[in-house]
Amino acid sequence: MRLRPAVAVLVVLLAGSACGDQGQGAGVVGRAAGTPPPPGLLPAPPAPGGDGTPRALVTSAGIVVPVVSPAGDGWTVRTPCNATATLTGSQARSAGSPVVVLDPGHGGAQPGAISPAGLTEAAVNLAVAREAQAALAAAGVPALLTRTGDYDLSLATRSEIARAVAPRAFVSIHHNADPDGPRAGPGSETYYQVGSAGSKRLAGLVYEEVVRALSAYAAAWVADRDAGAKYRTGSQGDYYAVLRQSPDVVSVLAELAFVTNPSEADLLARPDVQRAEGQAVARGIVRYLTTRDPGSGFVDPYPRTDPPPAAGPPPACHDPRL
Ligand SMILES: [Zn+2]
Repeated sequence: MRLRPAVAVLVVLLAGSACGDQGQGAGVVGRAAGTPPPPGLLPAPPAPGGDGTPRALVTSAGIVVPVVSPAGDGWTVRTPCNATATLTGSQARSAGSPVVVLDPGHGGAQPGAISPAGLTEAAVNLAVAREAQAALAAAGVPALLTRTGDYDLSLATRSEIARAVAPRAFVSIHHNADPDGPRAGPGSETYYQVGSAGSKRLAGLVYEEVVRALSAYAAAWVADRDAGAKYRTGSQGDYYAVLRQSPDVVSVLAELAFVTNPSEADLLARPDVQRAEGQAVARGIVRYLTTRDPGSGFVDPYPRTDPPPAAGPPPACHDPRL
């Protein structure tokens, strides 16, 4: 559905932030141009460290932590709140060499967008990420989640997990807020790293699969006027921290549907719809890994301005028990 021009002008002026995390942090230190993988081949696992040190661990409580360095008979690790801690060999196991890292947005004290009935984006993101992980596993593609429960997880640690593991694809899963208006179909959005052809292709494939899957359901869909596969830049490069802070990893942030829209929230609360979304994300990733399909849905984003900095300190981050 196209908005009337007067409405379109208005929504440009009112263009607000979606639910994705912006983050402020380390600047980009380099950018790898994405290179499509050869068709039919899954990637080799990342080269092991010279000393065989795992790059990320799963703690006995199920928390995923990147390894900073070996320490005695254990490791110094980065905690979810971007501090450091020391774990012994009995407190964690290697996260292995996952081909894909999935990042369920928000969690803990940051629920993300919330539906009128109280459904939180953080919970839906995690459920969908688990479904995507299961679908990828069924396709022979091991995937690691950055967040495995309802706890705080800093943007810095999300990116550090991705950089440590060096997967072939890193997908951050979100559900949106602040639509511009109604639309005839799903208003899904996928954001790619503006400097990465591989990220753009992955965004187009995830967009294609998610819209196809959601279109099977009836809803009073809403959208931003520039729904599609697109980029967003800010003063430091890519606007979204999880895209900006993992420049050497092909990364996409996906806003699958609008959790603040009651009609869509009714769908998102259903396990079968969560599964359909997760399977769609997984299909997009598998196509990225195994084909040269270009993806679709690419749009030129309308200009957005960075929101003003939040007043006061950021919310405190509390590490879970490791
Ligand atoms: Zn979000």
